[in-house]
Amino acid sequence: MSQIVCVGCGVSIQTENRDELGYAPSSALEKEEVICQRCFKLKHYNEVQDVNLTDDDFLKILNEIGSSDSLIVKVVDIFDFNGSWLPGLHRFAGNNPVLLIGNKVDLLPKSVKRSKLIHWMKHEAKQLGLKPVDVLLMSASKGQYIKEAVNAIEEYRKGKDVYVVGCTNVGKSTFINSIIKEFTGEKEVITTSHFPGTTLDMIEIPLDDGQAIVDTPGIINHHQMAHYVDKKDLKVITPKKEIKPMVFQLNEEQTLFFGGLARFDFVKGSRRAFVCYLSNELKIHRTKLEKADELYKNHAGEMLQPPRRNQMDEFPELIRHEFKIKDEKTDIVFSGLGWVTVNEPGVHIAAHVPKGVSVFLRKSLI
Ligand code: GDP
Repeated sequence: MSQIVCVGCGVSIQTENRDELGYAPSSALEKEEVICQRCFKLKHYNEVQDVNLTDDDFLKILNEIGSSDSLIVKVVDIFDFNGSWLPGLHRFAGNNPVLLIGNKVDLLPKSVKRSKLIHWMKHEAKQLGLKPVDVLLMSASKGQYIKEAVNAIEEYRKGKDVYVVGCTNVGKSTFINSIIKEFTGEKEVITTSHFPGTTLDMIEIPLDDGQAIVDTPGIINHHQMAHYVDKKDLKVITPKKEIKPMVFQLNEEQTLFFGGLARFDFVKGSRRAFVCYLSNELKIHRTKLEKADELYKNHAGEMLQPPRRNQMDEFPELIRHEFKIKDEKTDIVFSGLGWVTVNEPGVHIAAHVPKGVSVFLRKSLI
């Protein structure tokens, strides 16, 4: 059978998986000109849709961006900064400037100063090898600071094309949809154009000067917690509004369970406060360290959930990672779930996360 490609973006059409590149319902194949669902939505509703990419496809996109003369806009989720970071982007960016935008700023406590957050993001970006031309914060879903982001894009693109990149779930589509409104007003966005030499469905949003904003599909970061929970539980662990920090005064040899997804042991040190930044809907359960293993064995999936009982068979085992905290104001980050802040050094802790999910220390964000 000959390969059918989308007349909009050139991607190979498939009818099996809705969330993947090139999906079209089988009824669409009977038409003379086949268009993928993503292009269909853009054409008829001026709306971009999420599609996920394999790592190989993402490499191809990075290579293309690298050989372009453009502004790269990298969107990260400020609640899951490191988990949503696309490693390696800076190596491909070439000489192209990168504008770093932290989305979902509405989730952080209002007491946190923007300037401090931006400073923190610059510091982290540098540690990760990226020197952005500028760092901004916004909330795409709440429509906060979108104008600033659009103005910065106008300023830094200097008449060039713009590529917007980000891993899945950072809010890239929400952002692109609001830029479409900002840049094009009520005008219909008709072009989804074919990039010569690639079969990836990148979408062009035309700009007045003949250049374009290019929406690239989102890449999946495999070490994020999101890949180990189902859609329903993803709603529980993804905060929807400002997170209320939970403070726990703990003695050594006490444990906190975050649902049944992760566990925090205060192994050794003097009594102190631990501040948890997690979705308000995720239940935290405190117990004695010596009882923790037993408790998990007997109650994971029930008292300790998510995951739920019927998902326990597929849920990866929790792996223990030990840390000695040597610096003041340190976050222990549970990738995709949140973090625990320890203000003073001199503690010995252990963090347990599902096999495959990353856990690490960083300079405190807040
Ligand atoms: P994409 O996969 O990067 O394209 O992300 P989406 O635009 O589909 O957004 C992923 C999820 O994050 C959705 O549930 C959005 O409602 C949510 N989201 C997007 N932007 C924001 C934001 O600024 N704040 C909050 N709290 N949620 C957001």
